[in-house]
Amino acid sequence: MTWKQHITSAEAKARRKLSIMGKLSGTNWGANEKILKSVYQGNVRPHLEYGSSSWMTAAKTHLQTLDKVQNQALRIITGAMKSTPIHSMEEITNITPLNKRRECNAMLQAAKYCCTEDHPMNNRLTQLSSGRLKGSSFVLETRALQREHHESLPKQVKPIAFSVNDYPTEDKLRNVSIQTSVPNITSKDEQSDIVKKTHTMTMLEEQYPSEFWIRVFTDGSATNAKTNGGADKVNITTPVVFLTDALSVLQSLTNNKLPLLEQALFNIQSRITVLQWIPSHCGVYGNEQADILAKQGAGQQQEKNPVCLAEMKTIIKSLYRKSKHQDSYHHLSRPEQTVIFRLRTGHNRLNKHLNRVMKVVPSPMCPCGEAEQDTTHILQTCKNHQALGQRIWPLPTTIQEKLFGTVEDLQKTTRFVEEAEIQV
Ligand SMILES: [Zn+2]
Repeated sequence: MTWKQHITSAEAKARRKLSIMGKLSGTNWGANEKILKSVYQGNVRPHLEYGSSSWMTAAKTHLQTLDKVQNQALRIITGAMKSTPIHSMEEITNITPLNKRRECNAMLQAAKYCCTEDHPMNNRLTQLSSGRLKGSSFVLETRALQREHHESLPKQVKPIAFSVNDYPTEDKLRNVSIQTSVPNITSKDEQSDIVKKTHTMTMLEEQYPSEFWIRVFTDGSATNAKTNGGADKVNITTPVVFLTDALSVLQSLTNNKLPLLEQALFNIQSRITVLQWIPSHCGVYGNEQADILAKQGAGQQQEKNPVCLAEMKTIIKSLYRKSKHQDSYHHLSRPEQTVIFRLRTGHNRLNKHLNRVMKVVPSPMCPCGEAEQDTTHILQTCKNHQALGQRIWPLPTTIQEKLFGTVEDLQKTTRFVEEAEIQV
């Protein structure tokens, strides 16, 4: 199957939505990158991906028609010129190429088959093939992907049935109290470490005095999502309060989202009474120790435990997720974003690019006559704009700061471009 018809109709639907996106902004007005990105991801991309885990076998030329829709969307989102390389636009918007997302979806689908013991695909994915098959199929393609990532993927998975109905479900934690706050500590990050530490120590003394309570500081650590998990706690035989900075774990517990941990707590709950959250990294001694031990644990050789489908999904997604770096660009307005991105990529309306790449002006030289007109020249050395540059940047400022600095740094650059009346 080439999936031609299916893909053509997906493309048509996506393009209809894309035309709406194009009306939300121009190069110097309208919605900014963040809004356009969420419109794309919420309204256009789903059409390009519905059923995409089956398209592993589709002809590359058909799939490329879908990639072209995404590339056009990227151009709308960034306000970039046509010549701008796709990878620069993918990088600044943190949007993954569609083929990578299709691979990820196929891997997720395969993981689901591998965890479903009675699924017809299960045998084909888990047993050795004769190796005589020619051509492509879902099985061959996903196996190739699994081989490619075999070092990061767990060797064994648990069947789905394992984690369901394996223990009593009602009132498992009725003797366990979960506390997700500390008195006087606000959820916002506005208190200093010393204030947080003081409130935490006060609470420990008042609510869990050490004459009656055994305090256990516990923590977990994982690198690469969950592939290398380490956890450290002490074995206890008396009533106890577990102190942890893992707020999300406690919240998931109250929502019954962690059945395996619930089961573990159920097994020991005659001995424990409270799970108490404490703030992290503010110098509470036991918590810092637990943090160090957990990180040591994560660094050690791990037991080869089979993982469940949910964990497998987290691991697969982490293979395809790029780390998001801080960039003041995201806090700018639409016209500012367009200017900064064009200056950064060099794909802009300055003479050097218009002459060398676009071939629409006769000379690459700046009107000042001293050098070719490009980003560095206009921002750093052009004598035509020297007075203006002095006013905006009284102190020597690097090109790095002007293009990749704080929001204020970037806004100085856009103001310079605007006041110099340079079209970028
Ligand atoms: Zn010049």
